Amino acid sequence: MNPADRGRLLSDVESFCQELREHEELCYVEHRFNHHLVPLAQKYNILGMPVPTEYGGRGADTATYARALARIGQEGTGVRTFFSGHTSIGQYPIMTWGSAELKQKYLPASCKGDKILAFGLTEPEAGSNPLEMQSTYERKDDHFVLNGTKYLISNAGIATTIVVFAYDRPPSPPVGEGSGVRGGRRISAFVIDTDAPGIAREDLLAKVGMPTANTGMFELTDYQTPIANLLGPEGDGFRIAMGTLVSGRLSVAAGCLGVIEDCLIESIHYAKERMQHGKVIGKHQLVQEHLAGIEMARLASEAVVMKAAEAKDASAAEPNNDALKAKADLLAAQAKLFASNAAWEAADHAVQIFGGRGWSTLYRPGRHLMDVRVCRIYEGTDEILKMKIAAALLGGREYEAFK
Ligand SMILES: Cc1cc2nc3c(=O)[nH]c(=O)nc-3n(C[C@H](O)[C@H](O)[C@H](O)COP(=O)(O)OP(=O)(O)OC[C@H]3O[C@@H](n4cnc5c(N)ncnc54)[C@H](O)[C@@H]3O)c2cc1C
Repeated sequence: MNPADRGRLLSDVESFCQELREHEELCYVEHRFNHHLVPLAQKYNILGMPVPTEYGGRGADTATYARALARIGQEGTGVRTFFSGHTSIGQYPIMTWGSAELKQKYLPASCKGDKILAFGLTEPEAGSNPLEMQSTYERKDDHFVLNGTKYLISNAGIATTIVVFAYDRPPSPPVGEGSGVRGGRRISAFVIDTDAPGIAREDLLAKVGMPTANTGMFELTDYQTPIANLLGPEGDGFRIAMGTLVSGRLSVAAGCLGVIEDCLIESIHYAKERMQHGKVIGKHQLVQEHLAGIEMARLASEAVVMKAAEAKDASAAEPNNDALKAKADLLAAQAKLFASNAAWEAADHAVQIFGGRGWSTLYRPGRHLMDVRVCRIYEGTDEILKMKIAAALLGGREYEAFK
């Protein structure tokens, strides 16, 4: 992306964030999805930041997109999660593995905001191990028939289109390991529309945080999708899901960097205003220690997020280079693990600086604390990512303890 386009995009994101904030504040208090989010994102044309311009996107490289997501992350993990669901794990697999027909059908409309996307991999019995999924598909004439339940899906209730994954025939005893083929069965990916018969959706509301994000589940019952909506070759679903998680993890890491940045902005401001013991609390050394902690979290997270984004760009420039792909995959996992934990700690520091007001959802630190906690769970839990990193250190797949 050239510097002028990059500047314009980041300036649009800044304007979007500034305009969104007052609406988000209200929705946060009222625990509801922010219906200004999509119209404002349409206004600033940021619903397809990394999508190529020929499909209506902004053509951002990963490093620029990560910067944009960090800024959006300042507005809250819920807002950033919308973009992750729509773009990083929604549009991304279509633009990477979709046929020309699928790209044409879904990318321009989703960049305009006429279609909103989601990514449905997780199921009630298949979280950390997607190979335990129970959803199935079957080919019948000119379409596929899908059955199954997807659980804890970002944007599920507002999406017009969902990328879903299923096995090719009814469950049989598991025998395979880690390859996406289990008991001779294959996982395939599909792009499905939510306005067709055979899909029932439900919002999941009993969440610890992110009250303005839409999180839901859906059940597919003899849901029919055209053959053309198969994403990538049949049987490539697991590879597509894992490849998409590289993009998704980076988006989470970038959003966490934004959370830390906002905690820092808020904490500096508060520490210079709040008086106790005859001086502003920013003059108390132990309060300064909290500030230094947030700043170190910011500095280190920015370094690891940008390193991971650059690795992703390097890999995209040479799609057949497996070493670059593996490096981008590992760095995305490392960035997500590091930044999500750093953001949790930074939010905790900020809550402490705000004292009693910190432990309130009327102030931003408390919101960040509750919201950002999920970043250590979705798109690969802390535990799964640690084992992935250790396996890479030990020498590869044979050491993958999470298989
Ligand atoms: C708000 C929210 C939004 C989400 N959005 C999406 C989405 O858009 N699309 C989507 O597909 N999914 C989404 N998810 C699902 C998310 O990716 C899963 O929750 C996550 O992968 C963990 O799966 P699980 O909840 O089933 O936990 P489990 O897999 O049951 O894990 C429970 C605990 O056991 C640990 N554990 C599991 N296996 C091992 C092992 N082998 N070794 C050591 N520890 C292990 C885990 O680390 C965790 O601590 C979302 C979740 C949330 C909460």
